[in-house]
Amino acid sequence: MSEVGDGGPAVRRLAEWDEEDLVALAEEYETPLYVVDLDRVEENCVRLREAFPDADVRYAAKAHTGRDVLRTVREAGLGVECASAGEVERALAVGFPGDRVQYTAVNPPARDLDLVVERWREHPGLTVTVGAEDTVDRLRERGFDGRLCVRANPGVGAGHHEKVSTGANAKFGIPIERVADLATRWADEFDLVGVHAHAGSGISGEDLSAHRELVNRMGDLTREIESRVGPLEFVDVGGGFGVPYREDEPPLDLQAVAEATREALGAVDERGSADRRTASDDIGATLAIEPGRYVVADAGVLLTTVNTVKEARDATVVGVDAGMTTLLRPAMYDAYHAIANLSAAADTEEIDATVAGPICESADVLCEHRPLSRPERGDVLAVGNAGAYGYEMSSTYNSRPRPAEVALAGTTVRLARRRESLTDLTSLEQ
Ligand SMILES: *Cc1c(COP(=O)(O)O)cnc(C)c1O
Repeated sequence: MSEVGDGGPAVRRLAEWDEEDLVALAEEYETPLYVVDLDRVEENCVRLREAFPDADVRYAAKAHTGRDVLRTVREAGLGVECASAGEVERALAVGFPGDRVQYTAVNPPARDLDLVVERWREHPGLTVTVGAEDTVDRLRERGFDGRLCVRANPGVGAGHHEKVSTGANAKFGIPIERVADLATRWADEFDLVGVHAHAGSGISGEDLSAHRELVNRMGDLTREIESRVGPLEFVDVGGGFGVPYREDEPPLDLQAVAEATREALGAVDERGSADRRTASDDIGATLAIEPGRYVVADAGVLLTTVNTVKEARDATVVGVDAGMTTLLRPAMYDAYHAIANLSAAADTEEIDATVAGPICESADVLCEHRPLSRPERGDVLAVGNAGAYGYEMSSTYNSRPRPAEVALAGTTVRLARRRESLTDLTSLEQ
């Protein structure tokens, strides 16, 4: 592990991974293989905490729920935001104390509420965030009267793709104009600790105005609620901190995001004092943020082996053993991931390549018309920025077993998740 306090560079590009090490991993553990570097996870946590010294930083676990990642994040001092009972279980299992765990209920299945309320009895510090009035009814029916946070739908969204913009999507949260009244009512019955909103994913330099607007509305909401029921513990403005997927894209300026956040909250602190505990002079609540992607994206790469090279009419189709079931983002969001041929010599000519997976779907391409050092059968390709929503969104469609994952820490390599077997695939059938 790097020394605590070392936030490292703002971004880690694909070219900065050690090619020989990656090829050796591909040989030893076979492909497709996810590689996650825990030291980089730690650096990302440290940078976030440094940029937001007065905020409570909670890792949105759904980006990567691997045990080593969760443990690293906990050791780096972050809390955790969980999207399901399963994630709550994972967080508690690696030792997050209950009061560092927040469960965000999105149309929660009964089974999830049953389990979360059971865990809350053992860990009364656990916070439940509700995004619908009847979720509160359902919690009440189960005897829950603990720490409650209300998710507002702020009416502004942001994101790199419409499928990840949540802030104005009716599915998420209670319309912000109704939250103050409801929260006031619920404060009698529950331990009302905070308000929450999440605009979506992909806050970038250009998207800061949407972020500002969301934070601004959340500041007003917090002031309104606090004037009625007294200070809240936190105002959580969500995640969505973008990462540069394209290699020429500049990294997110965390300081600028932090400053914009503070300003928009109504917390203009000329001294920029790092030891302020509250979000602003007139808000009792502490600022909270929930980055997921930012913590893990550039800590991960996906390794895949070329199995077929085919000259098509207008491109060379490079067939590989990883596809949309391994890394869904390109198929689902048209996401860009850098791809490099680790096996090619430095002076290999570049070709116009379309890298395609083994799934019977036309969407099953990792990139189209990309310059790539001419691949040959057996070459190992690396796909960059695969640490967030990579393994997590993998599936077994086409009866394709999920890949293996190795975790790196210092000089140690650990098989974090073994490759799924064909036997695993059929093991649930009765
Ligand atoms: C997904 C999610 C996040 C994290 O989003 P990132 O883009 O990964 O930072 C934070 N909060 C909530 C409620 C989410 O659903």
